[in-house]
Amino acid sequence: MKYQSLRGMKGILPEETPLWQIIEKTCDKNFQRFNYHEIRTPVLEMSDLFTRAVGGNTDIVSKEMYSFVDRGNRKVTLRPEATAAVVRACLQHNLISKDKLTKLFYFGPMFRYERPQAGRYRQFHQVGIETFGSASPAVDAETILLAVKIFRDLGLSDLEVDINSVGCNKCRPNFTQNLKHYLKGSIVKMCEDCHKRYQHNTMRVLDCKKPKCQHIIEEAPSTVDFLCDECRVDFESLLYILKNLGINFKVNKRLVRGLDYYTKTTYEIVSNVLGAQNAVCGGGRYDKLVSDLGGPEVPAVGFAIGLERLVEILKTTKALSSKPQAITLYFAPLGDKAKISAIEYLHKARQAGISADMDYFGKKLKAQLKNADRLGALYALILGDDELSRNTVILRDMISSSQTELSFEEALKKIK
Ligand code: ATP
Ligand code: MG
Repeated sequence: MKYQSLRGMKGILPEETPLWQIIEKTCDKNFQRFNYHEIRTPVLEMSDLFTRAVGGNTDIVSKEMYSFVDRGNRKVTLRPEATAAVVRACLQHNLISKDKLTKLFYFGPMFRYERPQAGRYRQFHQVGIETFGSASPAVDAETILLAVKIFRDLGLSDLEVDINSVGCNKCRPNFTQNLKHYLKGSIVKMCEDCHKRYQHNTMRVLDCKKPKCQHIIEEAPSTVDFLCDECRVDFESLLYILKNLGINFKVNKRLVRGLDYYTKTTYEIVSNVLGAQNAVCGGGRYDKLVSDLGGPEVPAVGFAIGLERLVEILKTTKALSSKPQAITLYFAPLGDKAKISAIEYLHKARQAGISADMDYFGKKLKAQLKNADRLGALYALILGDDELSRNTVILRDMISSSQTELSFEEALKKIK
């Protein structure tokens, strides 16, 4: 094959798109019920935006960005995530303030230059939400409930919700200091990445999945043990609200998430059918991001669902089947004259709201009916010279195989 898609960019083929459409519809329905409004940002943004928002020492910014210099000598990046871009759009167009709630959702492709493997691609898709304007843990709870509701509506009820609080600017430094102190003696035994994290972003050490770092991390101090009063009260309220809402969750003291902007609540929804890449949704609060990007102090919370991983889960559960869309009516013209009439009839049928198609190849009747069957058609309209001269068509019920000769208008009525 001369041309192949780029490594890690798999595309979504028609056999899979029906599942994607079901997911999108399920999300749309719930977004509407929860009063979220759609925003669509460009896929390309200034590189600085992500470096500033996501953080220069994160995996995303230090290793994974698709960045290049455009013809106007601007440093630009294909968005690796949407939150920074949504905040940028909100500030540019004055969509948020601290005394009103702004609730936005998005769908779209994201780009990260990662090593491609199961559940990890270089172009992947996320659906996500961002809620601006409230610091109330009730809003954190609403976002988690919304994610859980989407999964439940898709027939998935056994996903695990992991929750943690990573504190705020007031209590995080104290925690970091303690963690640094704890790691001081053992950091030499940890991996390369942890060395870097230790220097620049110590909390992220807790996120390391390497076996040789694991047992050191196990004994490390946890953010929740260092929360200031405000963070602790908010965290407890959140857990209380979630319990009352009947959401099954687990406090996971090691959950720190890979982006710098999180404050207080972080959460992840994981599935046990996914293997190593088991997180299907990641979210949390980011109360400082809006002001970090030059806006007012507006607290915010949101999540992003990884759609490729969600599709993988849905395929294993068989809760939904990915059947291609079927048509209602198939035209089987026999001969060139019949073909011309069939084109007109086909157009009329579609105008009447019937999904329809026809044979353009001049195939034998048997082959045409086989094709009608393959397309899932409920009816076939057979058009031969005899029928043309009598101004009639033959309507074949594809399920019972019974046939009747009638006028085209009568056939349409019957089908409808
Ligand atoms: P991971 O730990 O799996 O790398 P992450 O913390 O980088 O995840 P987020 O930035 O929080 O992920 O993105 C939210 C969700 O997007 C993830 O939970 C996952 O489902 C999905 N996701 C992230 N990166 C990829 C990727 N390269 N390919 C496919 N899906 C991805
Ligand atoms: Mg990642």
